[in-house]
Amino acid sequence: MNKPFKNIIPDKFCIGGVEVTIKFADNETNRNNYGVSNPFQTEIVIQNLANNRTISQAQKCQTFWHEVVHYILDAMGEKQGEDNERFVTCFSNFLNEVIQSCETKEPKKED
Ligand SMILES: [Zn+2]
Repeated sequence: MNKPFKNIIPDKFCIGGVEVTIKFADNETNRNNYGVSNPFQTEIVIQNLANNRTISQAQKCQTFWHEVVHYILDAMGEKQGEDNERFVTCFSNFLNEVIQSCETKEPKKED
């Protein structure tokens, strides 16, 4: 069995016909956040470092799906607030678990 989505963070994807780019940063000004969803810039930024420590690929994946859920909710016109953050964290953690654990019988395709 292969896990084709395991630890994969894409370079870009589309939501509502808009292409969203994923960038990585060593953000020194936003130390407590592992990532940020920025619909106005059509980008999601994932941090390589937070609180002076390296973020693992598994944590970056979890952060990526967290920010995707924020992006989708924003596209849906949903409020983004304190209550919403709990929902986003819980929903995206389950979503990430599903994606990370997906298995196929097909061999993993290489480019
Ligand atoms: Zn969040």
